[in-house]
Amino acid sequence: MTMNEIWALIDFDDPEGHWIWKGGGTDGYGVIAIRKGYTMKAHRFIYSVLRGLGDSSNDVHHECPIKLCVNPDHMSLMSRGAHVAMHNRDRRRWLR
Ligand SMILES: [Zn+2]
Ligand SMILES: [Zn+2]
Repeated sequence: MTMNEIWALIDFDDPEGHWIWKGGGTDGYGVIAIRKGYTMKAHRFIYSVLRGLGDSSNDVHHECPIKLCVNPDHMSLMSRGAHVAMHNRDRRRWLR
């Protein structure tokens, strides 16, 4: 997919500022088919494009209650270890 195709699949009109991914997904979370045979979680991909991951081993934690939201303002970047520990500590947190 080209970036133009990817941007066209995001609905930026939500009144509360969510960026809703319309390209499909799994478990309620958006997934982007970057190219044939290679997919990425939509929120991680959009975050990586707009903000960068710093270290490619970092996780993008999905803070937003809207699972299909990909707005980087609604995500937080953290190390894999901190991310797993946080989810283990607080199971009410969103799982991605
Ligand atoms: Zn959101
Ligand atoms: Zn998370």
